[in-house]
Amino acid sequence: MTNDYRVIKIRELNVYANHGVYEEETANGQDFFINADIILYSDEQDVLSDELDETVNYAELCSFITDYMKNNTCKLLERISELLCREILSRYSLVESICLEIRKPDAPIGLPFESVSVERKLSWHTAYLSLGSNMGEKQKYLDDAIKALDSEIHTKVTAVSDMLVTKPYGPVEQDDFINCAVAVKTMLSPAKLLDFMHSIEQAADRKREIHWGPRTLDLDIVFYDEEVISTRDLNVPHIDMQNRFFVLKPMSQIAGFYRHPILGKTVNQMLNDLEQ
Ligand code: ADP
Ligand code: MG
Repeated sequence: MTNDYRVIKIRELNVYANHGVYEEETANGQDFFINADIILYSDEQDVLSDELDETVNYAELCSFITDYMKNNTCKLLERISELLCREILSRYSLVESICLEIRKPDAPIGLPFESVSVERKLSWHTAYLSLGSNMGEKQKYLDDAIKALDSEIHTKVTAVSDMLVTKPYGPVEQDDFINCAVAVKTMLSPAKLLDFMHSIEQAADRKREIHWGPRTLDLDIVFYDEEVISTRDLNVPHIDMQNRFFVLKPMSQIAGFYRHPILGKTVNQMLNDLEQ
């Protein structure tokens, strides 16, 4: 996010709805109050614009929130606030980030209190993924994976590189690979994005057998924003990307100027170094 931003603030939007754990709450309903900070992408267009279609129409947004609160019933404020954040991010393309608070002043607590609420902040992130296949109908596995990556509300494919045929890398004798890279915008955390990618690999009959052996589909996270992550299950940027032509070449088509947050080199520079 840039330092200069636009934020639309909604305060204390009152909706009568039926969220709650107890039966009387879902049966009878109660008042909810919604506070939202909607942060808009602002460097893409002239903020001096006087056109309603270059911003988010707050009247329309308030009626969307009201309808969504009324038409969906959840036990937990956590769940309804998560669902609403996802819907708003996916529905309004100008929204980069949202902070949403749902307040329930009449919650059945049985003690004197003023209000209880849940707040959720959710943003779009940019991730670059490397895709590869070297078994069976390789091209179809990749095409299906790209469709699957784009099929959920939380993740959208924004760019796809050309397909590249490469010789296998590593010690195991096996068939040629087809590789490509894609850019996605996602609301998922890096760990949840990896889970989502694993579910797509599983659906492609992927069996984890020989390490570095043949696979129907391999999906790796190359970059996630400018983040550096080192956990048991995840290394971002991908730990070996600077040594892999089949990662760098497709990446150079969609993110040539992206700078590696540890090595300090752009994708194009890393590709150049490797080709020397
Ligand atoms: P590889 O991709 O190295 O050929 P696998 O696809 O079998 O091998 O991945 C093995 C494990 O690597 C995954 O289960 C995952 O937890 C871990 N991993 C670490 N960093 C990443 C990353 N950036 N992207 C994908 N997987 C990763
Ligand atoms: Mg992998």
